[in-house]
Amino acid sequence: MKIYTVEECQEFITEDKYLPFYQKKFYKEGKSWNIYLANISDHRHCYHHNIDRVKWNIEKLQEKYPPINKILEIEKDEDEYRNKRLELYFCPLPNLGFQNAEVWNGNRDIVFYARCTQIPRSMTDYVTIHELGHIIQYYYACDHREDTSKWREYLKLRNAPRDICTIYDHWDEDKKIEVYREEEDFVCMNSKMGNHEKYPHYWHERPIEHFAEDFRYFFNNINDDYWGLEEYGIPKPDEKIKELMLNLGE
Ligand SMILES: [Zn+2]
Repeated sequence: MKIYTVEECQEFITEDKYLPFYQKKFYKEGKSWNIYLANISDHRHCYHHNIDRVKWNIEKLQEKYPPINKILEIEKDEDEYRNKRLELYFCPLPNLGFQNAEVWNGNRDIVFYARCTQIPRSMTDYVTIHELGHIIQYYYACDHREDTSKWREYLKLRNAPRDICTIYDHWDEDKKIEVYREEEDFVCMNSKMGNHEKYPHYWHERPIEHFAEDFRYFFNNINDDYWGLEEYGIPKPDEKIKELMLNLGE
């Protein structure tokens, strides 16, 4: 795992002459992260998620949820999807679209955004475990893309709507392109599959968010039994889902 502090992340923020004055961009090692940051002027203070609190959450999670260890042990990127190091970024500025954090770049980076209001520890606890839920899901439930059975199992337990979806199949070395195949009866889960026109548009309709929230509900470190999808009429996860999550590493 690698952590980039607010000071280190400052270097990834650049001006872009095509952007209005109140926006900036986040670039890293030639990769443009197309996220638009609010350019907060000097007199406004930005608050950041506390790095030590994030680390505390990860350490506690290692005891509670051992499958995370396999991901934390990866020290350098060995391939583009499966064996990719977990990296945490503490962005100095707020994002105009995402208030807290998101998962990026091969689904192994978490970016924590600054906010214009104080960030209580409980918010950091909430966000950290939710985002790690996404990391777990991409790593174990689908990311290596040959075996999607665990993800299908989860969708079944969640009664998720089904669709025909385009799924990453392999890398064509001659043509230097990613090759996709169509699969029936599957709910797409990441941005590449998300090109499909029926990809659920709203946050609360996406099975990946159900998974991340289910994960946080079961494995958060502060016994927080808040259920984040309640207002959308989505039921709390049951023990079968907890069991599936605990067995993902096997
Ligand atoms: Zn999420």
